[in-house]
Amino acid sequence: MANCLFCKIIDGEIPATLVYEDDTVIALNDINPQAPTHILIVPRQHIDTLNHLTEADTFIVGHMVQVGQKLANQLGHAAKGYRLVMNCNADGGQTVFHIHLHLFAGRQFAWPPG
Ligand code: AMP
Ligand code: ZN
Repeated sequence: MANCLFCKIIDGEIPATLVYEDDTVIALNDINPQAPTHILIVPRQHIDTLNHLTEADTFIVGHMVQVGQKLANQLGHAAKGYRLVMNCNADGGQTVFHIHLHLFAGRQFAWPPG
């Protein structure tokens, strides 16, 4: 997808340090971290928003969550806990329109979210 930040990172047009990658997703540290651990898990396939998901994307989204769980575990956050978040459109706080899962960990998070 032209002019998509995450597609450019996936295609190597914009350099980024990946903390994980496989055939379905990449993961990288957020440039503006909101917690000691703040990782973005991004599917290689461009999907604009959660509103654009179809049944065919079920594996991708399930895999994103599995990768979030594995990274949280590998980084030592499993026992204390962590948060996985996907934002959708303006009210959800989405700023990059290629779906991604935030992994937040390393501090106590408030509920309800702001
Ligand atoms: P969202 O607001 O849910 O769409 O999340 C987009 C996230 O991408 C934000 O947390 C940004 O800080 C992050 N971000 C923007 N540009 C970059 C970049 N070049 N590398 C890593 N993270 C980025
Ligand atoms: Zn994209």
